[in-house]
Amino acid sequence: MLAYERSEYPHLRTNGPQHGELAANGLPMIGNRLRLATLSDASAYHCRVALRELSRHEILQAVAEYDRLGQDRFLEKYGFGKARSYRLVVDGKTYDSKAIVGAAHGFLPGREPLAAADFSGGAATVGHLLSSLGFQVTQAVPGLTAGKLVVQLSALRPYRSPDGRQALYQPLALLWAVGRAHQGLARMTEWSETETTLGEFLERHGEHPRPHYPVAALYHAGLWDIAGPRPVPPAHGNAPLRWFASNQPASGLPEPVYNLVRYSGEARVAAAAAIVDKYLENVDYDAILSDAGLAVLLRSEGHCESPRCTGEPQDITDAGHPILEVDHIQDLAKGGLDHPEQMIALCPNCHAIKTRGCTRERLRHELFMVAGQRHQAILSR
Ligand SMILES: [Zn+2]
Repeated sequence: MLAYERSEYPHLRTNGPQHGELAANGLPMIGNRLRLATLSDASAYHCRVALRELSRHEILQAVAEYDRLGQDRFLEKYGFGKARSYRLVVDGKTYDSKAIVGAAHGFLPGREPLAAADFSGGAATVGHLLSSLGFQVTQAVPGLTAGKLVVQLSALRPYRSPDGRQALYQPLALLWAVGRAHQGLARMTEWSETETTLGEFLERHGEHPRPHYPVAALYHAGLWDIAGPRPVPPAHGNAPLRWFASNQPASGLPEPVYNLVRYSGEARVAAAAAIVDKYLENVDYDAILSDAGLAVLLRSEGHCESPRCTGEPQDITDAGHPILEVDHIQDLAKGGLDHPEQMIALCPNCHAIKTRGCTRERLRHELFMVAGQRHQAILSR
């Protein structure tokens, strides 16, 4: 068990911050060192858990040293090359992400810095770690940034029916795919699953359950990847139905797009907001965002939304998700609605206070205000 649930280990709470106590840098202090005790396999530690031991604290120590030494001397000291793709962003400055992580390991008590060969520096490791610790990571792959993705998304030409109604196939398919990336699901999806789950998603939001059309159209717009024979037919007539039925291709977001929206909270918000602004203004986008699994977690950006939170666990689950629970502010049994303004992302402590703390009524009132304000704010970004 690598990711603990506090409720299962009540003794861990004594390790957490006292109420309102902050570190000198203003960040909540969080006890985060306990999970090594549960490991039996030392090699597992070296392969995977070495990175998980890191908290924001060590990363920021490495960032401070990088600032002191400058890029060249820092990279030379730790023996790293310049980051080819993923860069950590702190206070508007960018840093070589892999070198920062390797150096940060040396700030753990009793640990040495990691060398470049000790771990890989891609999206699945360093990008994942840093974004799960709440840092912003940008992917400097030539040709794609959050800004460029927004331009590309805004330039789609969704199909218009003869009565002038704009079909929502493409924006819906994109939000579905961004939601899956956000949940850490695999980039490419088998066609049978796409046909079922995307088909049902389209149908719930007023379109025919025909994912063939948006997938083909988005492929031709450079926003979808299809693992099948070429050419992919254009997105009209019966050709796509026949082609997908006979080839059953796996498909999903192109890799740079997937990595960007999976690992950069900022890019995910920008992409979803661009799609909503441009194509979904006149429809119930709240319901669509909720259904895509985006609304509340996207709004929370991976952090507890309680205004009274004194610190959330920095660990992540085995699936790479922050330990947050998305919950109804008012229990459904008491008339709550399944709507983002009725939902809140909470860390386990705040969740427990909301459920059984003696201040729960006041907290629920505050959570309603926060959820409403933050929900509106994210849509107006
Ligand atoms: Zn909290």
